Amino acid sequence: MTAAPKRPSGQEQFFWKTKTLEEMSGPEWESLCDGCGRCCLNKLEDEDTGRIYFTHVGCKLLDGVSCACKDYPNRSDKVPDCVRLTPANVRTLNWLPPSCGYKLVAEGRDLYWWHPLVSGDPNTVHEAGVSVRGRVEGSEEEIPDEELEHHIVQWPAVLPKRARLKRRPRD
Ligand code: SF4
Ligand code: SF4
Repeated sequence: MTAAPKRPSGQEQFFWKTKTLEEMSGPEWESLCDGCGRCCLNKLEDEDTGRIYFTHVGCKLLDGVSCACKDYPNRSDKVPDCVRLTPANVRTLNWLPPSCGYKLVAEGRDLYWWHPLVSGDPNTVHEAGVSVRGRVEGSEEEIPDEELEHHIVQWPAVLPKRARLKRRPRD
């Protein structure tokens, strides 16, 4: 799930540290998404082990430059298997990347410096190398399911070193 990130007005500062997921308002909940687009990559599951493998093939609605969904309000109609995140399922889904704002907060952890809620800048998710910008090889409409296993990549399940720093690095 990825909408273009924005900071909602009237939002309590640092609400993600003081509220439970269930207590958050709709705009606060939406703003927890950092806009990385990683969850909108196609994934494969090993039927024997349950292990999830990311590919660099995007959902047909994923914009590989903005990293946002091209039709977020109507995503469930256009992509029926698009998973809507909820306070309950972010605690159990096994394919959310380690950088995901929902996953971090659900695990009682803080957001990183590059999260738009912390930096105040929607571009820092790209600057930190967390987003899928420039790394989506193609869309699921271009690459057939039977070829997906040839497009497995590791990076969506890894937090880049730059992103793990405590503060925004100086250039
Ligand atoms: S429809 Fe596709 S691009 Fe849009 S939020 Fe769902 S998975 Fe992401
Ligand atoms: S992985 Fe998490 S933070 Fe990134 S786009 Fe998906 S829901 Fe948003």
